[in-house]
Amino acid sequence: MKAPCVRVERERGETTRRELAESDLIADDLEIVVEDDWLYVPITDPDAVPDGFKVVEHDVPTRETPDMPADILGFEPTYERLGDIVLIDEDDAERARDIADAIVASAFPVKTVLNRASKIKGKTRVRDWDVLAGDVTETVHREYGCEFALDVARVYFSPRLATERHRVAKQVEPDERAFDMFAGVGPFVIPFAKRDARVVGTDLNDVAVEYLRENARLNGVEDRVTAIAGDVRETTSEYEDWADRLVMNLPHSADKFLDTAVALTGDDCVIHYYDIQHEDDPFGPGETAIRAAAEPEYDVSVETRRDVRSYAPHELNVCLDVRLTR
Ligand code: SAM
Repeated sequence: MKAPCVRVERERGETTRRELAESDLIADDLEIVVEDDWLYVPITDPDAVPDGFKVVEHDVPTRETPDMPADILGFEPTYERLGDIVLIDEDDAERARDIADAIVASAFPVKTVLNRASKIKGKTRVRDWDVLAGDVTETVHREYGCEFALDVARVYFSPRLATERHRVAKQVEPDERAFDMFAGVGPFVIPFAKRDARVVGTDLNDVAVEYLRENARLNGVEDRVTAIAGDVRETTSEYEDWADRLVMNLPHSADKFLDTAVALTGDDCVIHYYDIQHEDDPFGPGETAIRAAAEPEYDVSVETRRDVRSYAPHELNVCLDVRLTR
């Protein structure tokens, strides 16, 4: 079948395969093909492939071994992989049990299968999980060459936002001063620091901040990362007027933190403002709120209006990249 593949010279094959595997980008159900001194590595998401790799459409055979969950079940289940944990979202208990059993019996290197048991909730945005297999909710997840230790039962983390985080991280320049107001375990902070920015991350959830510190060490960027536990409105006065870049990933409530954001903003700063709004006007409320908080002290210009994903029927999760210039 035709599939998106990274094409690479044979001699760079193993390094490339390892690099793509670290970011969980290899399509496990398809074979890697060698042809005319080129290796074709089938991938799951062409947009997520790091810069510098060539992506082409190529014919690759499907794996013959019946070792994927779909081969065992006879249908394609929906799941997300987070390190060696597999997350599913099934209301029907029997179907959830069947999917978990198939995942465990498959070739996936899986320790735990969890089923969503609640929406994300409260200030820390953590959800409840039913444990269907295994008992460990802590793992190390790899994303674009970064490693994130986390406990999915105690912190917020969504592997679905990997492409969006990478889009933002690519904009970061060395020596920038970046501030993540709702940092979690560091999926923005760590890649920013790996691009040589100086980064501050705050979070209300003490457990997330402990993981953020651990992840800074794990990725060798602890000298460029400052992690602060507590409410960002009360813990960051020493960073007033400081930031060249701000991340505000607290959709639904980010508007309530815009006064703090403007206080943190330096003379020229880009804010990545995440929001969830009705599809009829997904960007308008965010832009209005940012202008109300920042003008007339700052000129406000919207650089990007990005539809990140659908959140619920008629509701979109969006991002505004907004430049504030004093
Ligand atoms: N940026 C991370 C990510 O993309 O995975 C985490 C985003 S999560 C949607 C929002 C985070 O904001 C949670 O970890 C929560 O604990 C934190 N949070 C909520 N209210 C906060 C506040 N007042 N000050 C600091 N952090 C807060």
